[in-house]
Amino acid sequence: MTELLSNFLAGQWQTGSGTGAALFDPVLGTELVRVDATGLDLAAGFAFAREQGGAALRALTYRERAAMLAAAVKVLQANRDAYYEIATANSGTVKNDSAVDIDGGIFTLGTYAKLGETLGERNYMLDGEAARLGKDPLFQSQHVLVPTRGVALFINAFNFPSWGLWEKAAPALLSGVPVIVKPATAAAWLTQRMVKDVVDAGIFPPGALSVVCGSSAGLMDALQTFDVVSFTGSAETAAVIRSHPAVAQRFVRVNIEADSVNSALLLPDAAPGSEAFDLLAKEVVREMTVKSGQKCTAIRRIFVPEASYDAAAQAISARLAKTTVGNPRNDAVRMGALVNRAQLASVREGLAYLQQQALTLHDGATHTLVDADPAIACCIGPSLLGVRDADGADRVHDTEVFGPVATLLPYRDTAHALALVRRGQGSLVASVYGADPSTLAATALQLADSHGRVHVISPDVAQLHTGHGNVMPQSLHGGPGRAGGGEELGGLRALGFYHRRSAVQASTAVLAALGS
Ligand code: NAP
Repeated sequence: MTELLSNFLAGQWQTGSGTGAALFDPVLGTELVRVDATGLDLAAGFAFAREQGGAALRALTYRERAAMLAAAVKVLQANRDAYYEIATANSGTVKNDSAVDIDGGIFTLGTYAKLGETLGERNYMLDGEAARLGKDPLFQSQHVLVPTRGVALFINAFNFPSWGLWEKAAPALLSGVPVIVKPATAAAWLTQRMVKDVVDAGIFPPGALSVVCGSSAGLMDALQTFDVVSFTGSAETAAVIRSHPAVAQRFVRVNIEADSVNSALLLPDAAPGSEAFDLLAKEVVREMTVKSGQKCTAIRRIFVPEASYDAAAQAISARLAKTTVGNPRNDAVRMGALVNRAQLASVREGLAYLQQQALTLHDGATHTLVDADPAIACCIGPSLLGVRDADGADRVHDTEVFGPVATLLPYRDTAHALALVRRGQGSLVASVYGADPSTLAATALQLADSHGRVHVISPDVAQLHTGHGNVMPQSLHGGPGRAGGGEELGGLRALGFYHRRSAVQASTAVLAALGS
């Protein structure tokens, strides 16, 4: 039997008492390691984190915590090679795709280390200026932000075992809130290994960082009123989390990052042959193929003017045809595998479901796998679908196929395009392609209420923009509506989730002692 990975809880490495669940290589089909959380005393582990880890973190200043994040960055950088090996084996990703997760996670942690330095030698924050409460200026109100006295439980998705951990842990630890992470079982190895390296380096106080791998059973039950839970995953599991008694009855604060049917929109002025048109085709293909389309932010719907539909279908298909799919260990391969057989089955099923209302413009089945056995490897070629009647088809607007699949849709005019985009009911990100700054700005504002991020691509930023699906720590991540309604990152805004705001009403002498 393969190695059973340990959990780190209550300041100790502990193995579950069961045989656990196996993690597999999605390309070779071999078993890699096992995870198990059976029999762990979760209540004791959460109490240890809450009491010991929380108290120790809160006693430190933001600058001291920022220095710990910077130290963790160094440890992670020193072990990068091992992380790449785990990612290749467990996630089946090519090097560039592993980098999005591994280096993206380390970069995000480093960004918060730098941001934290600016917060200085204090362990609470003032929120805005003091405000007079009456005629006499002596009695005023000063809002303060103090870290919550609970734990932050992270329940994460399989597609970002590194980035998903650090994009949440960085702002939580900087805020002074201890972290317990439960990675998705399918790809838990990388999360466990990164936590292990950081824990073994002795950077954070005991109880500040814990990891539970394996079943989620009992984790939500262990939450108490001042704890917070941040969930990333499917809408179905999100509904379970939202309705759990911890949230519904014990007032646990919750952040949900769920699935989303993100859009790319080519504006009417970007005719075939224009630079903006080419930028759209390039970005769509990148989004469809990076991590085999297993990105919550990936483009799923592509809206183009009716007159550009055929040209867009051709341009995107021509680029997709060049994508080599297969074993990520082979240098000729550009796109690796899906995470496991279950996801492969789910993507095939989702594709067939959409194909009942859509034409296949580029068929992923035409891609012969490189260096991989189709009977074993969880690899699938990229498929571009097309629907000429964008109003009539309903499935494309509310189905997220979590793989290399996107659908092209024509629109009549900008108002029609915006109405179609909104049928996604709220998304993480929409990208807009055009050349005229005022039209682009107006369109961005039209999309802003239903998208956490609007990524505007014009020829002047062709070489500079950070990518439709790339989540940068400086910018907000999360989206309204079916995207879960959550908010993460956005620089120091992320710290808000881990702090409680309170208004201190007092004499100006007292407020001065607060630093007001
Ligand atoms: P999932 O099946 O919903 O699982 C997410 C996490 O929830 C896993 O850790 C899972 O553990 C855990 N879980 C399952 N049932 C649970 C329960 N009853 N109580 C508590 N936790 C439970 O999602 P996934 O398949 O891993 O991820 C793919 C989905 O995530 C896609 O739809 C994608 O769009 C979305 N996603 C969103 C974002 C974002 O930022 N918005 C980012 C990445 C992915 P097990 O693995 O042990 O079952």
